[in-house]
Amino acid sequence: MSIVEKDLHNNENLLEVKNLKTYYPIKGGFFRRTIATVKAVDDISFEIKKGETLGLVGESGCGKSTAGRTILRLLKPTGGNIIFDGEDITNLSGSKLREARKNFQMVFQDPYASLNPTQMVGNIISEPILNYSNPTKEDLKKEVMELLEKVGLPEDAYYKYPHEFSGGQRQRIGIARALALKPKLIIADEPVSALDVSVQSQVLNLLKELQHDFDLTYLFIAHDLSVVKHMSDRIGVMYLGNMVEIADKDSLYAEPLHPYTQALISAIPEPDPRKKKERIILQGDVPNPTNPPTGCPFHTRCPMAKEECSKIKPTLKEVKPGHKVACILYD
Ligand code: SF4
Repeated sequence: MSIVEKDLHNNENLLEVKNLKTYYPIKGGFFRRTIATVKAVDDISFEIKKGETLGLVGESGCGKSTAGRTILRLLKPTGGNIIFDGEDITNLSGSKLREARKNFQMVFQDPYASLNPTQMVGNIISEPILNYSNPTKEDLKKEVMELLEKVGLPEDAYYKYPHEFSGGQRQRIGIARALALKPKLIIADEPVSALDVSVQSQVLNLLKELQHDFDLTYLFIAHDLSVVKHMSDRIGVMYLGNMVEIADKDSLYAEPLHPYTQALISAIPEPDPRKKKERIILQGDVPNPTNPPTGCPFHTRCPMAKEECSKIKPTLKEVKPGHKVACILYD
């Protein structure tokens, strides 16, 4: 479903992320002093409209998962602001944070590791509901049964344990648990990358159906650009903790502007063997985030780099309506 077919609630933002930073100290030496800092997320800004899916892509270690966890306030931001549905949640704590958390949930990459193996599925899905309310046993069971049905699991799944299910079914349990509190935002962190290719599209299609049925907004984090294209309305590309490009998916795939995005897109296999596609092979590895390059973070691998790229750090600028890029080539 494209962005125009969706009801985006009059273009209202559900989430605004402003200049978000998440740094980790690295301790060392006899006194466990801070000897270095990992800038896992280094000043990123974006927004997600109500009902929209924003995809976040980049190689492993680019900061996309850290960004997702910081937005959920599972990690403490080092700087910047997270505005959720008009409320600044950056510094909430205690009962206020707990109350806000009802509205945003996460679907994890590894459905098995994220489900308690000693609990029956009925209890796993009931747990978040019981954390926030005190329904009767009958009402609780009815609600859990409805959630099982919504995610395509049979009624008897209620009495089974996670190990009795396949990977795809376990991810459905994880999705049912994430839906239990009727959240507004779901952050899905590589939700299908641990699954067989044959079941990936079933889980992706389920997420799309649920978005419609539950009026959900998604931040969809993945490294697989084909998966992100299938799911997203807009896509942000991250490199070494920075957002280097953000655009609606059609513009991004048809005309990627940042040399890093161009390289990522060139690596997507072309389904039509008659069409020739030139693949851009990036040289070198992703630099160590404790010691990122000066200037443009991509200059050590960029095939288009100029002398000034090692001195000037480009900022994300809108170069076409809705299409932003951080690269001096477009200044
Ligand atoms: Fe490449 Fe320079 Fe643009 Fe960075 S600023 S992406 S190094 S051309």
